[in-house]
Amino acid sequence: MRKISTKKITDVVSRLVLKANFSLRKDVLSSLKRAALSEKSPLGKSILKILIENARIAEKEGLAICQYTGIAVVFCEIGQKVHVGGDIDKAINEGIRLGYKKGCLRKSVVSDPIIRKNTGTNTPSIIHYSFNKSDKLRLTVLPKGFGCENASKVFMLKPTATEEEIIESVVGAVKEQGADACPPLILGIGIGGTLDKAATLSKEATLLPVNKTNPKKHLKRLESLILKRVNETGIGPAGLGGKTTCLGVNILSFPTHIAGLPVVVNINCHALRSAESLI
Ligand code: SF4
Repeated sequence: MRKISTKKITDVVSRLVLKANFSLRKDVLSSLKRAALSEKSPLGKSILKILIENARIAEKEGLAICQYTGIAVVFCEIGQKVHVGGDIDKAINEGIRLGYKKGCLRKSVVSDPIIRKNTGTNTPSIIHYSFNKSDKLRLTVLPKGFGCENASKVFMLKPTATEEEIIESVVGAVKEQGADACPPLILGIGIGGTLDKAATLSKEATLLPVNKTNPKKHLKRLESLILKRVNETGIGPAGLGGKTTCLGVNILSFPTHIAGLPVVVNINCHALRSAESLI
């Protein structure tokens, strides 16, 4: 059994909070650069250039890419040969608290969804645990902006839903609120399972490289059709028009029940931030 201390987990999470908030993911940055070259709208092109420059300054100066530093979503993948001596939840949340404090990052979490008093620490975070057979522990921190989280949608489609109906549902969600979600967007889509499984998959899909395509042919086709149709909406960078409404679409799928077809689209803004570490 390999021992990992809770202090180590706290330290790593705290560092990941800073990295995710200050350094835009390389795949997102590359996609923005490619889009800036191909965007035809002069206004859209200039917005994309501003976003690229903003990311450069944030990394250089140690400043938040966006002042809205989100709610921290943490993925913790634990090897079965790892023993953590203590409370992992507590250790992760302490890392989130320290990271947001050190980075002077905005704290946006309220303790009760109805009473709405700010906890002042950006905790608790949303933690997803999974397990593998290794002697390692992988931590991924995803600060999720809520402008785009609010634009995300669940569709419990009929099992007979066609490819077109799936596309229409996702494109409809973008048309409805995509302009408010700080485009260009990145879409994580979960298909199958139950409502909650599809939602988790949609969030996990946002951790995949923006330009990665699904290994299954029919899902790769769906990703590409959705990307094309979303970009045809003309919403454009910052919602001010152009062909770059979306930088990438990633789908994750899971077996489901004969009676249903859950589809969840997790909409992400251009400031798609995440950082991971393997301990
Ligand atoms: S949706 Fe993203 S870019 Fe827009 S304000 Fe929120 S974190 Fe910032």
